[in-house]
Amino acid sequence: MANQAPIQSARRPLLSSGYNDPNRYPHGVAYVDEQYVPMADAKVSVLDWGFLHSDATYDTVHVWNGRFFRLDLHLDRFFSGMQALRMDIGLSRDHVASILDNCVALSGHRSAYVEMICTRGMSPVFDRDPRRAVNRFMAFAVPYGSVANDEQMERGLHLAISDTVRIPPQSVDPAIKNYHWLDLVQGLYDAYDRGAETALVLDLDGNVAEGPGFNVFAINNGSLLTPDRGILPGITRKTVFELCSELHIRAAAGPLSVAALRDADEVLITSTAGGIMPVTRLDDRPIADGRVGPITRRLIDAYWQKHDDPAWTTPVNYDKA
Ligand SMILES: *Cc1c(COP(=O)(O)O)cnc(C)c1O
Repeated sequence: MANQAPIQSARRPLLSSGYNDPNRYPHGVAYVDEQYVPMADAKVSVLDWGFLHSDATYDTVHVWNGRFFRLDLHLDRFFSGMQALRMDIGLSRDHVASILDNCVALSGHRSAYVEMICTRGMSPVFDRDPRRAVNRFMAFAVPYGSVANDEQMERGLHLAISDTVRIPPQSVDPAIKNYHWLDLVQGLYDAYDRGAETALVLDLDGNVAEGPGFNVFAINNGSLLTPDRGILPGITRKTVFELCSELHIRAAAGPLSVAALRDADEVLITSTAGGIMPVTRLDDRPIADGRVGPITRRLIDAYWQKHDDPAWTTPVNYDKA
């Protein structure tokens, strides 16, 4: 396409070739029951409430070129989620950080998707009282993954608005990162049925909430707008606000109607899994002229530039491995 610079630019190298290799994926290292094990051996009891009742919280941070991105913010969110759910793993933040570092170092990945999980666990006698459960901590590092593949980063994603309504915040607090994904998975099937690549779900008021593991922004007349409720407040979403402030771009959080999204000049989604990603088609219509827009490109570029900034990153200590 005329005058469209490749979006990968210098900043976001192509995903590794092993990324789609079913024999290799996912190569990684997990920490389970106080041991480091290959991913294939990372197993959990079927009696764990994390599995039986989705009674768990988690967080995902990424490593790019050997550096964690915004690790402190992810640890903050993980620890506040555990506190809100009355879980206690008996480990300090520094201890959790060192376990994550060990998983990445042992995996050898320079770019990784790193997950930390706390499940309710189970009581030693399978008591029904959650207070008697022994909470379980685990973590793993696998290759970096993205909601959008390289081709979708170039041309923009095709999203569909699902008929499935997001679980209301009155029922499950979406600000605690959780595995209550039946609405989001149903949303994905709704999207696939319509030939789209991923989904957005609406809240009970009919406003846009979020998608499976990502937040959404509409850009209109140079200003960004993202939903302010019924969402997981993403760290990539927060990063977009900070980048906008540095770049003197207006950004706000507030109710985002479907009409405002359809009429946007540009749409982007944000997630640790892929960063800032362009959307160029919504249901059966292109967004504006159907091309990745200039503000989205600037933000993607600024986002990847920050990945060598010591203020926002923490180097992995590979030497001990
Ligand atoms: C993790 C997640 C996001 C994105 O959050 P980031 O911190 O940017 O990765 C958005 N929505 C849901 C439901 C999520 O689980």
